[in-house]
Formats: sequence, structure tokens, C-alpha cells
Amino acid sequence: MNELKGLDGCTKMVDAETRETLDSALRGYTATLGDHGFDEARTIWNGMIDRSPGLVVRALGTSDIRAAVKFARDNAILMSVRGGGHQIAGLAVEDGAMMLDLSLMRSVHVDPATRTARVEAGALLADVDRETQVHGLALPVGVNSTTGIAGLTLGGGFGWITRKFGMTIDNLISADVVTADGSIVRASDTENPQLFWALRGGGGNFGVVSSFEFRLHPVGPEVLSGLVIHPVSDAPDLLKQFRNICANAPDELTVWSVIRKAPPLPFLPEEWHGKEVLIFAACYAGDMKDGEAAMAGLRALGSPIVDVISPHPFVGWQAAFDPLLTPGERNYWKSRDFIELTDRTIDTILKSINALPGPQCEVFIAHVGGAMARVANDATAFPQRAAHFTMNVHTRWSETAKDKACIEWARDLFDKTAADAAPSVYVNFMPDDEEGRLADAYGGNLERLRSIKATYDPENFFRLNHNILPEMPSQAAQ
Ligand code: FAD
Repeated sequence: MNELKGLDGCTKMVDAETRETLDSALRGYTATLGDHGFDEARTIWNGMIDRSPGLVVRALGTSDIRAAVKFARDNAILMSVRGGGHQIAGLAVEDGAMMLDLSLMRSVHVDPATRTARVEAGALLADVDRETQVHGLALPVGVNSTTGIAGLTLGGGFGWITRKFGMTIDNLISADVVTADGSIVRASDTENPQLFWALRGGGGNFGVVSSFEFRLHPVGPEVLSGLVIHPVSDAPDLLKQFRNICANAPDELTVWSVIRKAPPLPFLPEEWHGKEVLIFAACYAGDMKDGEAAMAGLRALGSPIVDVISPHPFVGWQAAFDPLLTPGERNYWKSRDFIELTDRTIDTILKSINALPGPQCEVFIAHVGGAMARVANDATAFPQRAAHFTMNVHTRWSETAKDKACIEWARDLFDKTAADAAPSVYVNFMPDDEEGRLADAYGGNLERLRSIKATYDPENFFRLNHNILPEMPSQAAQ
């Protein structure tokens, strides 16, 4: 007998026979505590999240997804969905709930003739990068290759080549979705267009995506990319110059700033290890010679400790930050968007660096805009197209004893940078204590999302996510 959390908050008992019925409907398998695959499924990237589902369904395809959704619906069981397990909020796993785990579904099929890819929902960014690069193609995704494609896409998705080719959602052609009533539908510009609109930024609120179809672009095999590292004492001036470089950058050029204690990188002189530094991480998505010209201004700034910008395989550059972002550590984030990076914001960030609570804690400022900004705010559910910078206060540590200090440091810097920030926030960077920011994440698109939620999931079956409540029938009638 399994005890599972019900949709009504009460415990549901699932007897062996009922579980066997589910098992017999699956190509994959179910697992509970102690079974093979259970720990693998329940363990996610953020080590702060240590939860134990009542039952895990390890799906192998759309039929398994449908069987799991129907089982949870018929038995009124609360269900979470896990793609790559990378979300900071950890909503893929809930104590006592049923987890639909898609992490075994990682196939990526590329059609080089049409420059498209069909990607299963458990694929990681590394899977997508490798399979597309075999054909000299790429999809704009995030900067950490162990992230899942599903959660990233459903929230928006941006990284090194987004300014040139748009966000991940801007390259989504269609998605196959299992909806709350167990239907299998395709969402695209021509089929279920409202659902398609909502999936592009609205998160896991509308159904379970079994696979995505993406448009690809010629990139690589090498891109001019790498790091330029400066002493943090030079940062007040350099960050202002960074701001100007970003303002005038071609779409091909993306530069992110990271301020932190220097990790023991092999190319960094040892005396700098553990000292506060400003890191410019840059990538040029285009011709090498043009890239050299476009990066010249950045590389001429100040007196860097090291400059390791050179041609790198695109697949390698996509994974360059993986060693600093390994799973299992404790993590807490606070994020803000900025249209402009004011002097006051720069000063505030740099003051907080004097009090960094740990060697893995950092502030990164992602340079966005470009093609991403040339899409209307209401063209997809993702509304903050105007942001030019996204700051993530990223605290990361090992010992539970440091939880309070790290979380408070992040919240403090977040509060202090409020004055010049944009009102928006990227839903994929929201921790689980930020329910109140849903309106910031969706802005003017929230009401339309609620209306589409009422069509596709009126009972809010898919609720273990940054939850968009369905519009009430009385509201819809108005
Ligand atoms: P999961 O934790 O598996 O899923 C998150 C949520 O997505 C689930 O709770 C569920 O609600 C929903 N979901 C997942 N799969 C499905 C599905 N198939 N159908 C329906 N709903 C589903 N984002 C960027 O845009 N750019 C970056 O550069 C970037 N860098 C990151 C670096 C790190 C270290 C981390 C931890 C995250 C980063 N992110 C970045 C954020 C990332 O996009 C989100 O964390 C995203 O949610 C991860 O997707 P996932 O599938 O791994 O997550």
C-alpha cells in the first residue's frame, strides 16, 4: 500500500493492485523508496531540495506520460513533473506526491535538410548541443549544459547565442503535449495556437510536453569565446565600460559579467585563487575575424590578470561553466532585470561583494537583448523583452550551517538594487519563496495565461510549478 498526497491535500492510499495496473500500462516503470531508480529521479540539482515522492513514474514515451496523467487524475493524486531537475525552486519534486520523471527520455533527432530538431522532454542541453553540432547547427539555450531542455524552454531560455538567434521559445516550432484530460495534442502556430502561445514562457502549467520541435541555426564548430579576468578593485570603472560595450554590441556578441572570489582555474595565477575578481565571459556567434574586431574593445579594457579568449568548440564553450555548477550543492537565487545598469546599481553590487558569504557565491549580470528584444511582449507568454541585463544573485554553499547567512546576503542585495530595476523577473530564476512575483514574471500576459489555463486545465491539476491559477468562470463571462 502506498500513501500519496491527494489533490485535495488529504492522503490517498494506493494498493498494490492499483499500482500494478499502472505498471502494466507503462513501457517504463514505477519506483518507490528503496527501488532502483527512485533516488536518481528524486535527486535534483539544488541540494537544498531533499524531498521524497510517494511514487515515481519513470516514463519512456508519450503513452507513459498519458498513463501517468490519467492515473493521477483518476485517483486525485498530486503530481509533479521532472525534466532535467535543474530548477532552483525544486518544484519537480514534492514530498508524498507522484513524480512523473521524464529524465530517461533524452533522444534528439536532427533533420539537417530542414534545420530542425525534435527533442524529447528529458533531454539535457548537452544532448541538444552535441546532436545539433554534428550537423554544424545549434539551438539558443542556456549556459550550463546539464540543464533540462523542457523546463528551460517552458520558461523562455536564453544564453550565449540568444542575442543573435532569439530565445529558445522563439525557435520553438511545435510541442507535443499531454493535457490534463489525457488528450495528446500538438501546439504550434496553426494547431492549438493559444496553447502554443502559453507554452512559450508559461511554464509547466498547461500540460506535460513530451517533445519539442525546434528551428536550428548554423553555428561553429568553433566560436570565439572565453574569459577576461580583472581584479575587483578595477570593477567600478570596468563595469561602466562593460555597460557601454553592451549598448553598442552587435547581436553576435554577448558578454556576461561575473563578480565573485576567483575559483582555482588552471590558467589563473595561484595568488589570485580565492580573491575577489570581475570576470567578463564573452562569446561571438559568427565569423572569427569579425569576432576579433567586435571583442577588441572589451579586451582592451584595464589591465586584466588573464585573457583566455580564443576559438573554442561550441559544444565545449556551452559546457565551460559546468564544473562551477555541479549538482548537489546548496543554492539560493534572487534575480532582477534591468533596462539600464545605473552607476548606483553597480556601486551597490560592488559594495555587497566585500561581504560575499562564501567562495562559490557570485553575482552575474547577463547581457540580453538583441534578437530577443525584437519580439513583442505579447507575442509569447514571456513578457520581459525590453530587459537589457538580467542579474542573478547566486549563492551557493555546502554546509547547512551557512543557509541563513547566504540566503540573507542574497535577499539584502536584491532589496538594495530595487530602485533602478525593471519590474520584471525571469520565471526560471525564481526560488520557491517568490509566489508573490508571478505578476512580475508575466506582467500584462498573466490574464491571458489564466484564461488559457481555464481552457486546458480548469481544475489546476498541474499545480506543482510557478502556478498560474485558472481564470474563474465568472471572470471569463465578463
Ligand atoms: P526541472 O526542475 O526538471 O523542471 C522544472 C519545472 O518545469 C517542473 O517543476 C515542471 O513544472 C516543468 N516541467 C519540466 N518538464 C516539463 C515537461 N516536459 N512538461 C511540462 N512541464 C515540465 N535558464 C536560462 O534560460 N539560461 C541559462 O543560462 C540558465 N542557466 C542555468 C544554470 C543553472 C546552474 C541552473 C540551475 C539553471 C539555469 N537556468 C537557465 C534556469 C533553467 O532554465 C531552469 O532551471 C529550468 O527550469 C530547468 O529546466 P529542467 O527541465 O532542468 O527543470
